[in-house]
Amino acid sequence: MKRILLIHTGGTFGMALKNGTLAPSAFIQKILEFVPELKQIAEIESHIVTNIDSSNIGIEHWIKIADVISDNYEQFDGFVITHGTDTMTYTASALSFMLDGLSKPVILTGSQRPLSEIRTDARNNLINAVELATYSIPEVCIFFNNKLFRGNRTKKINIWGFDAFDSPNYPPLAEVGVGIEIYKGNFLKRENKNLVISKNFSDKVFCVKVFPSLKLDYLLSLLETDIKGFVIEAFGSGNLPNIEERSLIPFVREAVKMGKIVAISTQAVYGKVDLTLYQCGKDALDAGALSCKDMTTETAIVKLMFLFGKYGDDVEVVVNEFYRSIAGEISED
Ligand code: ASP
Repeated sequence: MKRILLIHTGGTFGMALKNGTLAPSAFIQKILEFVPELKQIAEIESHIVTNIDSSNIGIEHWIKIADVISDNYEQFDGFVITHGTDTMTYTASALSFMLDGLSKPVILTGSQRPLSEIRTDARNNLINAVELATYSIPEVCIFFNNKLFRGNRTKKINIWGFDAFDSPNYPPLAEVGVGIEIYKGNFLKRENKNLVISKNFSDKVFCVKVFPSLKLDYLLSLLETDIKGFVIEAFGSGNLPNIEERSLIPFVREAVKMGKIVAISTQAVYGKVDLTLYQCGKDALDAGALSCKDMTTETAIVKLMFLFGKYGDDVEVVVNEFYRSIAGEISED
């Protein structure tokens, strides 16, 4: 029988209603009592990293999770992480970058309704995540609502429905129905390497969403801080306002001159950034902006945090690595 390590971090999954509000509860310690059928799928051990609403997750938790995986890597065939849905995408991205040489499944899951409730989606998500973790899937994934996605390609798209996640620019890795369909052709092609974890992240990263009439001065004031990298969530294919009184291009030019990185992502969900399609994007490109291409904004933020953590102030390497696919998060073309 395969051995699966269940790593709990919190989220709605294990919460209970306290005065009408959902908050972390201690019941997660009894998870095998709630879902005894898990024992039919695999030998399960569990480890509680923390038990918090995932809005409170940060770099220190990413490192703790990676340490637990690394310390138990040889003893287990797969890892299932129960995590709040709000920041699951960020944690999945961080782990996908940290776990270099991963050859076993690391599957994050959670739920929209707590496990303790009758009409919960937690049971289905957990059972299927554990089942999928017994397969040979060499990736950090998110399992939700019968689909297994590459974690760093996902976005939280639904607050209410059970389909909380989608992977707009990359197809699923597996789907669950009456049977289980595994789409092996979509898996990462990995060289056989040992697992090596990189644990440094920088928090000197900032993200701005562009909107009509956003004042250039506000952006310029950010250049007086120690921020090293910006992700600018621009319009459509990566467009920024570029005419005289509206132009945000001087911000890009100034930031790049100061040795900072400005990466342009998009507010659109599907499709990829192309800074050559319109003059509004081309001006940003000419001013030194990078394109996030088909990377999500969430993943681009975590990637910059990771690259600045790993390569420090070597901006040239950070730029080169930004365009390289570390864990399938970006299409290289
Ligand atoms: N606020 C919760 C969390 O992310 C939402 C959830 O788990 O679905 O921890």
